[in-house]
Amino acid sequence: MSGVGRVGLLLTPCSYDHHGIHEEMLKDEVRTRSYRDSIYQNKHLFKDKVVLDVGCGTGILSMFAARAGARHVIGVDMSSIINKAKLIVDANGLSQKITLLQGKMEEVELPQQHLNNGKVDIIISEWMGYFLLYESMLDTVLYARDQYLIQGGKIFPDKATIYMAAIEDGEYKDDKIGFWDNVYGFDYSPMKESALTEPLVDTVELKALVTDPCPVFNIDLNTVKVEDLAFSEPFSLRVQRNDFIHAVIAWFDIDFQACHKPIRFSTGPHTKYTHWKQTVFYLRDVLTVEEGEHVRGFLSNKPNDKNRRDLDIKIDYELSTEDPTRMAAGSCEYRMC
Ligand code: SAH
Repeated sequence: MSGVGRVGLLLTPCSYDHHGIHEEMLKDEVRTRSYRDSIYQNKHLFKDKVVLDVGCGTGILSMFAARAGARHVIGVDMSSIINKAKLIVDANGLSQKITLLQGKMEEVELPQQHLNNGKVDIIISEWMGYFLLYESMLDTVLYARDQYLIQGGKIFPDKATIYMAAIEDGEYKDDKIGFWDNVYGFDYSPMKESALTEPLVDTVELKALVTDPCPVFNIDLNTVKVEDLAFSEPFSLRVQRNDFIHAVIAWFDIDFQACHKPIRFSTGPHTKYTHWKQTVFYLRDVLTVEEGEHVRGFLSNKPNDKNRRDLDIKIDYELSTEDPTRMAAGSCEYRMC
């Protein structure tokens, strides 16, 4: 594992006003190329269609859609980055094709003259946060779907899947968690508590994986409801080798299945880097596992009651083994904020 990235230090409500975060997203080639390919390889779907870009940022997805032949694209973003998007769209000669509106998707009024009987044919959006659901921007896309998408309209992307696996990560865990046991001769255990309850966003090396990956939660954007995003789903992780387990990690895959040629990208440890990295959940215990055993449990997630952008995540786990000395079960709670 490398790098930093404690969630919470990275994003504030006005983060999207800043240049840097848009640079990071645009330079994430896995992300941006997948969107581009899904749009350019499906020009027949975009031709003469009305497209809504939810959270358009610098306007990149709106411009892909316009170049793919859309009749009109409406981009909405609440951040002041939209002023740059207007200049960029203008610089690329696309101002006649793209209308950009600053405001919350839930509050703006879309220009009727560009809509198709008050509706749009396609929604495009890059809404994914760390652990897929952090920031809860998916709520906004679902609002746009229910309000504006024409019957039978398409959503790009339309599927998302959260995966889990368990990792050996003793050295890093000692450094991140064990460090608080003795800080210049003082007991800093109250800090240990927050280190254990905050998930860590970081790059996990493939060789750290001790189990097979397991798909845990599927989202179909055509049908999912906001309330489905509070969930408790079972997982079963098959152990690949005799080792220790210090943490469970999660990542997600994204699918564009509405296409002629489906496009998929993954943010997992087995594939190219993306700015989402992986999310690491340290367990309180260390599990000693043997090949062929299973760590089974439940991944639960719900938006925090006080702040819907924050997530309350719970991992219940149990090691199924015939060896009573290694039997283990536990429940760990995390807060992503
Ligand atoms: N589509 C751009 C930016 C993606 S980042 C790209 O692919 O590069 C997500 C964007 O959604 C941010 O710019 C953020 O300001 C915007 N956003 C988040 N919630 C929103 C809401 N409720 N209404 C409008 N914009 C929103």
